[in-house]
Amino acid sequence: MDHETTALQIEVGQDYPEIRESVRRVCADFPGAYWRKLEEQEAYPTAFVRALTEAGYLGALIPENYGGSGMPLRAAAVILEEIHASGCNAGACHAQMYTMGTVLRHGSEAQKQRYLPQIASGELRLQAFGVTEPTTGSDTTRLKTRAVRDGDSYVVNGQKVWTSRALHSDLLLLLARTTPLDEVKKKSEGLSVFLVDIRNARGKGLDIRPLKAMINHNATEVFFDNLRIPADSLIGQEGRGFKYILDGMNAERILVSAEAIGDARWFTKTSAAYVNERRVFDRPIGQNQGVQFPIARAHAETEAADLVLRRAAARFAAGLPCGDDANMGKLLASEAAWHAAEACMQSHGGFGFAREYDVERKWRETRLFQIAPISTNMVLSYIAEHMLGLPRSY
Ligand SMILES: Cc1cc2nc3c(=O)[nH]c(=O)nc-3n(C[C@H](O)[C@H](O)[C@H](O)COP(=O)(O)OP(=O)(O)OC[C@H]3O[C@@H](n4cnc5c(N)ncnc54)[C@H](O)[C@@H]3O)c2cc1C
Repeated sequence: MDHETTALQIEVGQDYPEIRESVRRVCADFPGAYWRKLEEQEAYPTAFVRALTEAGYLGALIPENYGGSGMPLRAAAVILEEIHASGCNAGACHAQMYTMGTVLRHGSEAQKQRYLPQIASGELRLQAFGVTEPTTGSDTTRLKTRAVRDGDSYVVNGQKVWTSRALHSDLLLLLARTTPLDEVKKKSEGLSVFLVDIRNARGKGLDIRPLKAMINHNATEVFFDNLRIPADSLIGQEGRGFKYILDGMNAERILVSAEAIGDARWFTKTSAAYVNERRVFDRPIGQNQGVQFPIARAHAETEAADLVLRRAAARFAAGLPCGDDANMGKLLASEAAWHAAEACMQSHGGFGFAREYDVERKWRETRLFQIAPISTNMVLSYIAEHMLGLPRSY
């Protein structure tokens, strides 16, 4: 357990007020009806993503010398929180913000010059991140997709599942095994990261198929059948890919948790407005403690989760280890959002099921945070093992 004291500064309340205000203005053009129509058509929110790109938000974390705005992680979290608190969903494009982190931290200067400015401007979409596989799931280091060096190329074979947005992305960050499992000392070794140019690869060994899912997340299955990619698609050193991916995961957890916080705030605001207005038995339903208390409890949980996440972002910014807070924050935020969603659904009665209220859409969307990008049990295992010194359970 960490008993050290570190002086860190975190802002409380509405930090980055100008960013919050301008995100809200962009989101005002994309009301619930926009998202409902997309769902019906299983379509990608192209206009929304374009608006965020033009506002510069998706290049927020790319340093200024590569064409981005070089903002701290907390500012990016605020952008995502406000998108979700406005009733929108950043799941269609949040990867453009942070998947490039692997290239930024571990790519060569040539790769950074080649990709980052175009990712910052939105000309190149790096929206897809292929880790999860159908047979190995959370046991990432046992993944079976293989990349074998052959002269100036790697030849890739295997399959990914739940790869979000692959049909709306130019590039795919791929984790594949380059050294067989039985030839490495530790199972986390021998995995490598590649930046695959989807535009060149489709139809030449790369096949992408949409996956029908509970929410409109543009999920796909990705199949590699003797796909030949240039050797310079490799990011960093061969065999060290798992470490590179882990480096980005804390940032991803903090950012995705900010979306959960935003959802929680949307649910609580929506609940409060509805229960004040809806009258049954001659009084607003919000006057009943049975209706009030779940909403109030979820609000308190949201505030607590938000504080842990602010600490995580402050530690990240200070270059301190932030895995403990990023994991705890992810657990607390995903559960706070779910409790706020349940309170909102329940207090809307039958109207919670009516599509036009958006409660059922947001309720389905926010459920994801307990599963992806990492499921609750995996976070609890982390806390038990790494923070409390309990035996490793898997
Ligand atoms: C909409 C959506 C979008 C996604 N986008 C992406 C993406 O873009 N890229 C990508 O790579 N992946 C993506 N994923 C995949 C996601 O990261 C995985 O679904 C998630 O990590 C869980 O893996 P799994 O589905 O294989 O579950 P499994 O690993 O099969 O686990 C199933 C359940 O068992 C529990 N469990 C498993 N092992 C243990 C254990 N040892 N102890 C306790 N509990 C355990 C898990 O916690 C979970 O609740 C997405 C998933 C969804 C649903």
